[in-house]
Amino acid sequence: MRKILFALVFVAACSFSAHAQFGKIKVDKVASAVSKGVKSFTLTDAELKGYADQSTKWEDEHNHLCKTTDEYENTKAYAARLENIVANIPADLVKEYNLDIKAYHVTDVNAFARPNGSIRIFTPLMDLMTDEQILGVIGHEIGHVVNKDSKDAYVAALRMSALKEAAGAVGGDKVQALTDSQLGDLTEALGNAQFSQKQENGADDYGYEFLKKCGKDPSSMAGALGVLLKLQEEAGSPENSKFNKLFSSHPDLKKRIERLNKK
Ligand SMILES: [Zn+2]
Repeated sequence: MRKILFALVFVAACSFSAHAQFGKIKVDKVASAVSKGVKSFTLTDAELKGYADQSTKWEDEHNHLCKTTDEYENTKAYAARLENIVANIPADLVKEYNLDIKAYHVTDVNAFARPNGSIRIFTPLMDLMTDEQILGVIGHEIGHVVNKDSKDAYVAALRMSALKEAAGAVGGDKVQALTDSQLGDLTEALGNAQFSQKQENGADDYGYEFLKKCGKDPSSMAGALGVLLKLQEEAGSPENSKFNKLFSSHPDLKKRIERLNKK
């Protein structure tokens, strides 16, 4: 049973995508939200940041955010380790993208970025990787922010969920306060968001150059993907149609690793 659970949570992780099902949040309203249709609307950068900040606050409140002041030794250790890893990132980059990089102590193997510069790394992923590989994952996530993939995914999720009814009424730079239920819908919609192979390749390339910028071995980017590939291979045989189907909907890890190894 444990193996099956592990395999399932991994599916959400194999591309470090925008998934946000952290193993604790339970939201079941999104299916209806998505099917209700969508109004078109535009957002200013200030509005986008206003909404993304609300999402981050909500997500941080609904997951165990590891802090160096934590009362629990294990989560305190995760926070301290991540702080050391993050210290390798050039300060100008942190400032330019308003990077806020923290760990969630949850059950899934995953990581994600929001367009406001919030990046969350899940502790089961930290357990599997070296510090340099984790830095590679962080670089990959920053790549999604820099390439505006995170912005596109967030705006799409807003359209599908929280603002589907209110969008027409929102104007100017006014950011409405989202309700708890809207924020839950939004997180769920972000969890279902998926990046294209092209977007993942772009983020991998960014992560590769980012590692060099941090003075680290860029091959750790491929190394991080290799850890996930190994997990994927251990998760089940190709004959297992259920897993095969799930994995087939995700960008091919092997191809991504081969691309990076060519560099
Ligand atoms: Zn990605």
